[in-house]
Amino acid sequence: MTIEEVPTPKCGLNDVLIKVHAAGVCGTDLHIWEWDRWASNRLKPPVVIGHEFAGEIVEMGEDARRAGILQLGEMVTAEGHIVCGHCLQCRTGLGHLCKRTQIIGVDRDGAFADYIAMPAGNVVRLHGIPTDVGAIMDPVGNAVHTVLEGAEVPGSTVFVLGCGPIGCFAVGVAKAAGASLVIASDLNDMRLDLARRMGAHVTLNPSRDDVVTRVLEATHGNGVDLVCEMSGHPVGHAQAFATARLGGRVNLLGTPSQSTEVDFAKEIIFRGLTVYGVTGRKMYSTWNTMGRMIRGGQLDPMPVVTHRFPLERIADAIGVIKDGKAGKVILEIAS
Ligand SMILES: [Zn+2]
Ligand SMILES: [Zn+2]
Repeated sequence: MTIEEVPTPKCGLNDVLIKVHAAGVCGTDLHIWEWDRWASNRLKPPVVIGHEFAGEIVEMGEDARRAGILQLGEMVTAEGHIVCGHCLQCRTGLGHLCKRTQIIGVDRDGAFADYIAMPAGNVVRLHGIPTDVGAIMDPVGNAVHTVLEGAEVPGSTVFVLGCGPIGCFAVGVAKAAGASLVIASDLNDMRLDLARRMGAHVTLNPSRDDVVTRVLEATHGNGVDLVCEMSGHPVGHAQAFATARLGGRVNLLGTPSQSTEVDFAKEIIFRGLTVYGVTGRKMYSTWNTMGRMIRGGQLDPMPVVTHRFPLERIADAIGVIKDGKAGKVILEIAS
């Protein structure tokens, strides 16, 4: 990965050109930095990376302008999954599952740059949400999707398993949505501190605590109504199924790098569990709900942000994430 001068992206008829003010650094960027198997199979360099950002609209294509919704000079963020709009999924409200999805900063040029061109339909207006928050609404949206999908959260009990940034955001979303008990677990105590700051009532570290026993104790032997599995680790999956109450729900966001063994009869079927795979953010109901929760003051993701660097110090930004010392890291690009 290198920092280079590249041409300003072309703003197509249906696009807006955005001057990037801030961008979030993600685990995905770490995979690209390390050029692991996933990254080397997926990316076709040269590509500008970065997919979480907020900035100002500085140019609008003719059709985008004529649509009459976005305004020159306003602050926006954007859904980074660009979908085809024509497939079965796109046409039935499941655009987040479009087979032809192109992800900015992965499949096409992204946001760790002064400018990014985005299809107007992907752009989300901030309407007063601070730029730094706008820059991380992509992963906050993953958390909103994970916590709210299919669960009746008010008054419920929620276990967030894995407290990377999205897990910590999920703790905040569960609190905001009215959960009566939020339990969080992680092997990293710094992350558990962040989870507590986001409102977790109980935090568990599997290196010290028997997670399943502790969750059952905290729920009078029942288990929780909703488990948000954010670790992607095989041990996490076993704990997720064992800590959900009979008839409960497990929403899976953490992505395992290998296959996991599951005893379907014992762990899922006879426990009556509902299991849901979380991909991206629903277009655009997740964004709508998230925007309201943030603007209404119910949800503040900022306690999870631990570091800020100028774009030029991307290596340091990646370094603190790799060392497990960071919550969310923001790149300051312009203001
Ligand atoms: Zn991300
Ligand atoms: Zn599609």
